[in-house]
Amino acid sequence: MNTLVLSLKNGKREKSIKCAGEILRKGGIVAFPTETVYGLGANALDEEAIKKIYKAKGRPSDNPLIVHISNKEDIEFITDDVPEICKKLMENFWPGPLTLLFKKNNTLPNIVTGGLSSVAVRIPENDVALELIRESGVPVAAPSANLSGKPSPTKAEHVIEDLMGRIDAILIGDDCPVGIESTVLDTLSDPPILLRPGGISKERIEDVIGLIISGQNEEKSDIPKAPGMKYTHYAPKAPVIVFRGSILNMVAEIKKMKNEKENEGFRIGILATDETVESYTGCVFSVGSRDRIESIAGEIFHIFRCFDKENIDMILCESFTTEGMGLAVMNRIIKAAGYHVIDAGGEI
Ligand code: AMP
Ligand code: MG
Repeated sequence: MNTLVLSLKNGKREKSIKCAGEILRKGGIVAFPTETVYGLGANALDEEAIKKIYKAKGRPSDNPLIVHISNKEDIEFITDDVPEICKKLMENFWPGPLTLLFKKNNTLPNIVTGGLSSVAVRIPENDVALELIRESGVPVAAPSANLSGKPSPTKAEHVIEDLMGRIDAILIGDDCPVGIESTVLDTLSDPPILLRPGGISKERIEDVIGLIISGQNEEKSDIPKAPGMKYTHYAPKAPVIVFRGSILNMVAEIKKMKNEKENEGFRIGILATDETVESYTGCVFSVGSRDRIESIAGEIFHIFRCFDKENIDMILCESFTTEGMGLAVMNRIIKAAGYHVIDAGGEI
């Protein structure tokens, strides 16, 4: 398939978005920037178009998609019931990286929700995404625009790497400022359940609804309520081992394991921070400063992809706070590691 590469620069913006909107209306699939990660969109009302998304990504068909709309009123086309708690959250966080679950009405094909009776919806906070949805005139179902299992795409070049020749078009926008996917909150359960930590922190949601929310213990649950969470996600090619504990202990244990593994003939990569990068030698990437967890969130998937370009056998990874955006960052890192975490002792 020939993939159209649509620029938004040098006066091409309007024409490119028009063209992408028309492709969506006609049943094609288009990658576009959002504030979280690049999305791969299709008309949410068109079953054949949705099938193309699953095929292009190699995504399991029981992993439902998030439906993107461009204004709050359009929620009426997707559900007959907007609970008060959702109204409050929509008021506070839309547009933005918070996805909410609603009871789905009959206009949406079952394939969008993987057969579930609920549908996940959000309004992205990105002008190109909003203009594209408006231009298409339909709700846009969009998972991340990567091959299933690979780190989510936060730069247009990541989308090109994964999906060139597999989709109808790519809108080439800026890097995604949040850099991690949206928070998915199940408000159909009482109390609400955090299905996926993401771009809006748990603490900010709790402030608005006045309730403490809990996450699902995925590791222990056979049937995660967000079906996507059961798949190994976000993973670089090489296996990842996460170290937790005080910074000094983490660095010491990572150096020790690096030496041991190198003696066994393995090539090792290290995911470090600005504060620790000088402590190591060899293939080391800093994901940013520990003082700015938001910018670490913005870099993490890109750094995972940087490791893919190096010829290494194993990645040793530092951990971070689980406060604020740190919860989402650590969720992605621990999933990339398949829950392989070594306790180096002490607290961060
Ligand atoms: P992605 O768009 O690829 O970042 O993934 C969307 C995430 O939202 C996955 O983890 C899905 O399992 C989850 N999700 C989407 N729709 C639903 C739904 N109706 N119920 C529960 N989780 C959902
Ligand atoms: Mg995804």
